[in-house]
Amino acid sequence: MPLITNIYPIYVIGGIGQKIVIAGTGFNDQQGGSYVSFKDVDVNNYGNYMDAATCMLFKYIKWTDNEVVVEIPRALTGKVHINIYGIDYESNDELHVKATLKNLTYDPLTALHLTNQNGIGGYTWYINEEFWNNKRARKAIEDVFEEFRYKTGANFVLNSAPTSNAINCTDKINIIAPDPALTVTGHCEDFTYHWTVNGVTFKLYEFFKIHITDKENWYYGRGRTPVGSSKFRYVLLHELGHAHGLHHVIENDQTMVGTVIPASMVPWSKRDIITPDEKIAIKFLVKMSQNFSFRDCGVSPMTTIRNPFDIYGKYQNHKRPVWLVYKYVAYKLKNLLSLVLQLKLPKLFLY
Ligand SMILES: [Zn+2]
Repeated sequence: MPLITNIYPIYVIGGIGQKIVIAGTGFNDQQGGSYVSFKDVDVNNYGNYMDAATCMLFKYIKWTDNEVVVEIPRALTGKVHINIYGIDYESNDELHVKATLKNLTYDPLTALHLTNQNGIGGYTWYINEEFWNNKRARKAIEDVFEEFRYKTGANFVLNSAPTSNAINCTDKINIIAPDPALTVTGHCEDFTYHWTVNGVTFKLYEFFKIHITDKENWYYGRGRTPVGSSKFRYVLLHELGHAHGLHHVIENDQTMVGTVIPASMVPWSKRDIITPDEKIAIKFLVKMSQNFSFRDCGVSPMTTIRNPFDIYGKYQNHKRPVWLVYKYVAYKLKNLLSLVLQLKLPKLFLY
């Protein structure tokens, strides 16, 4: 009888080509119709195991009687299944998917790319005037953009003037706006598009709309959230994570955990930054978005950013001013200091 004795690694990132080794016995010398299955993160099959047709699309690196190696697709945390002649066998250990790309399919050629959508290298985001005129909200948005730009290099910039457009506007612009009709805390709506030229289909993110509820008592600052209020920065961080290609995970130490825990509760109240796992997943998407070869239909790759602190993209094509360089150095020093503190006091920084 087939048996899985071990899977490794246990902590992984989905959809970026990482491999998992499944060790055991009775897998047969050749794959034939057998396959490996993971818990699905796709909304239409969320939490269930992927079916045979899907699993046959994975990239199997090795298949022997006692070891199978396969690329980990977009997936959710859960035990790994191996299906031999129509029967599922389950691993003892759970595979922890710490971050996973959202729309990366099993074939990287059909993945959704970020592109040079605004003609200056990436995506320009408009802040609705209600958030723009609220200084603390605007500062929170600026800081969250800086965080993503600094950690991932994604070319997202803010427009230097607000928009009066509401969230339900039909303009094809990237917008962050309050949504009185929203029934959840926040939502990132993505609009995708694809071109097929000479039999090659290229898929891209066209624009995004980030809806934020107006029903919460928002706290716009950093750090611990006062009781009775919810953390604006965390919700925006999560929604912008979707706009950077991330799907939900069921790992409580991650920004992309699917269910929003009341923000005054630990650890979410302290969360201000994207995690190292999310950074790896997004950087994979950014690199792919900067290096694709499709050039038809006005599509070109996302360009690299000159300075992560230039959040309004003012110096994209100019020599960067001295204050931006200083800020860059200060940020590096601050991160180095916090790294040293983490080494000394690991428990303090667990969350
Ligand atoms: Zn979400």
